[in-house]
Amino acid sequence: MTQSTQEKPNKAVETPEGHNAYPHLLQPLDLGFTTLKNRVLMGSMHTGLEDRARDYHKLAAYFARRAEGEVGLMVTGGITPNIRAWLSPFSGFLKYRFQVKRHTLVTRAVHTAGGKICMQILHAGRYGYHPFSVAPSAIQSPITPFKPEALTSRGVEKQLRDYVNTALLAQEAGYDGVEIMGSEGYLINEFLAKRTNKRQDEWGGPYAHRMRFALDVTERVRQAVGPEFIIIFRLSMLDLVHEGSTWDEIVALGKRLQALGVTLINTGIGWHESRVPTIATLVPRAGFAWVTERMKRALDIPLIATNRINDPAVAEHIIASGQADMVSMARPFLADPDFVKKARLGLPQRINTCIACNQACLDHVFRKQRATCLVNPLACYETEYTVKPTDKPQKIAVVGAGPAGMSAAKTLAERGHKVTLFEASDELGGQFKLAANIPGKAEFENTIRYFREEMQRFGVDMRLNTTATTEALKNFDQVVLATGVKPRVPPIPGIDHPKVIVYNDLVAGRREAGQKVAIIGAGGIGFDVAELLSESNPAVYEDPQEFCREWGIDPEVKTEGGLTETRHSPSPREIWLLQRKTTKPGKTLGKTTGWIHRLSLRKRGVKTLTGVQYEKIDDAGLHLIKDEKPLLLPVDNVIVCAGQESVRDLLPVLPDDLPVHVIGGADKAGELDAKRAIRQGTLLGLRL
Ligand code: FAD
Ligand code: NAP
Ligand code: SF4
Repeated sequence: MTQSTQEKPNKAVETPEGHNAYPHLLQPLDLGFTTLKNRVLMGSMHTGLEDRARDYHKLAAYFARRAEGEVGLMVTGGITPNIRAWLSPFSGFLKYRFQVKRHTLVTRAVHTAGGKICMQILHAGRYGYHPFSVAPSAIQSPITPFKPEALTSRGVEKQLRDYVNTALLAQEAGYDGVEIMGSEGYLINEFLAKRTNKRQDEWGGPYAHRMRFALDVTERVRQAVGPEFIIIFRLSMLDLVHEGSTWDEIVALGKRLQALGVTLINTGIGWHESRVPTIATLVPRAGFAWVTERMKRALDIPLIATNRINDPAVAEHIIASGQADMVSMARPFLADPDFVKKARLGLPQRINTCIACNQACLDHVFRKQRATCLVNPLACYETEYTVKPTDKPQKIAVVGAGPAGMSAAKTLAERGHKVTLFEASDELGGQFKLAANIPGKAEFENTIRYFREEMQRFGVDMRLNTTATTEALKNFDQVVLATGVKPRVPPIPGIDHPKVIVYNDLVAGRREAGQKVAIIGAGGIGFDVAELLSESNPAVYEDPQEFCREWGIDPEVKTEGGLTETRHSPSPREIWLLQRKTTKPGKTLGKTTGWIHRLSLRKRGVKTLTGVQYEKIDDAGLHLIKDEKPLLLPVDNVIVCAGQESVRDLLPVLPDDLPVHVIGGADKAGELDAKRAIRQGTLLGLRL
């Protein structure tokens, strides 16, 4: 890691429209036979629309919208070369000529919109979530329930032929190139690593044999498609699993790929089974650009940096400082299809920033739901939800400026309604504002900034410090009640003891906690509060070096897989995180992020107790019943994180003839999150 990685890019880019604030990022890239209009790659991301022929017109609209937003080059979600390569049953594959037609919908739409697109060829290997999966060796992965079948030599040869066949069909469909997925622990990566390749034949053993599959795929694909077709190889530069590749091996492979005529090398970070966070919001921005920077010293072809790049100034810095030739962003284009265009126009403050929460993208894909975006519910629904100007502008009051109210107000005003937004407190954001105070969640502030900018732009009359009253609302044509939630305070004896703090007072900084703390409730907010109270090294969320130290990443990648000892900073407090249920704490946390929170708190020494009953709180502490026995936690403070209740005081007192729409937490407090609040606000805004 060099000094340049650590320099803070200038985030406050304030340029007049039309001035190029990002000269390096927006500079064309000449690939010899074709030129990319800028250095931005929209990285491969599975949306779920790739899996059914009937959804390809939606996929085409999704990509065309991003092409209109001026992305230099896009890559589709992974398309497998055959059904044994499937990610899950019936996921998208391209093996037969009759399947080409659906892909031409995508390529035509993108080309018409002035964009370029490559198709990713992905062989899931042992990550295939089905009983027909194949791998170099019959070793089950820790994240799938199926043991793969070890490929025979004929089987290996068949996979190679299928890669070539799929690349040719992609070319026939009009793609500008293919990306060969060689990272994240999928088949090619499995051949490369000792961890998953125990073969004794010409495909296993020494590294020269283990890298043969990657090289053969690339060589045969290049021969088949000819020289004027983009081949991106996604190279795993940091496996982050034991018995992965060493740096010398990865460089050796990179050099061979370069010699075989690969056009671009994209960076892969971490196998899916790795227990190191690589894209979650707590990973520092551009936290892995140093890896690509190291590789740049060894290779001459253009390299692409990835992971937690979500801001044009950060991306500009990566290119300007020579860490990479291009940047890849995937989720930021779900959040805002116009990311590049807004950067080009010098309007970064208008970008709807990806907050790296994974809640509506990766978590959906893992649940086999269509991906979308927490901050932009229109993503992947381009053919279903459109923002049309209203032909009947009305005076609409929105009460509450949490995520639900802000998204409703923005969408209504964008469509031409005259919107007044009432907010009782002195700031926008509601509960989401508190989320941004949690260590590692500072990105959440960007969503509030985005809505503030948009509401100003569309002329919303924002009235802070104004509690809406019946009197104030009765002159509007319609009212949207987005009054949100308040913390639930359970009736435990002693709940009004001075040592009890309700989470909003703690997170907003109105109260401070002592050295010994019990947290009542181990849901999303209980975990966040535990994170806040146990945090002692804020640099870990901003500084890639600190992040590597804490999560045990070897910056020299000398070890196999690049792992070393983790050094999590211990909690400055003794913390107990409690719940009444006997299920695993944090069960409701996101599929792709919950494990990080559980692991991080465990490493910091936070203790979790499940199956407890709360008896009373007094000067001695919190009295519990655990396993039918009394237990006293001698704590200085008890923090209440026991869920929420809807705030709907206004509803019964509004005139009967006034149309009222209730959204977000005010509608339903159970299972509320910002994803539902923003979606409900946006969809109501499209409807009225
Ligand atoms: P609220 O956010 O509660 O907003 C309601 C607003 O209405 C408030 O600003 C309030 O002041 C205002 N109001 C109420 N009555 C009136 C009135 N009469 N007049 C004027 N204004 C009024 N969600 C996620 O999806 N992911 C997360 O990672 C996440 N992390 C969180 C972390 C923390 C610490 C907290 C506290 C919450 C977190 N959440 C998260 C939950 C998320 O913030 C809420 O689900 C979301 O804010 C609910 O939105 P809402 O608009 O319905 O209500
Ligand atoms: P939550 O996830 O529903 O958790 C509430 C917790 O309170 C549970 O652990 C529950 O456990 C406990 N509880 C409920 N009623 C209680 C009572 N009467 N007495 C004592 N304990 C009680 O709600 P939340 O933590 O308030 O979070 C609110 C929303 O924000 C959630 O939807 C969450 O998804 C979202 N959020 C998400 C994240 C994220 O990382 N994605 C982070 C923060 C918040 P027991 O009933 O077992 O005791
Ligand atoms: Fe980014 Fe969250 Fe949207 Fe996914 S859901 S694209 S992580 S903001």
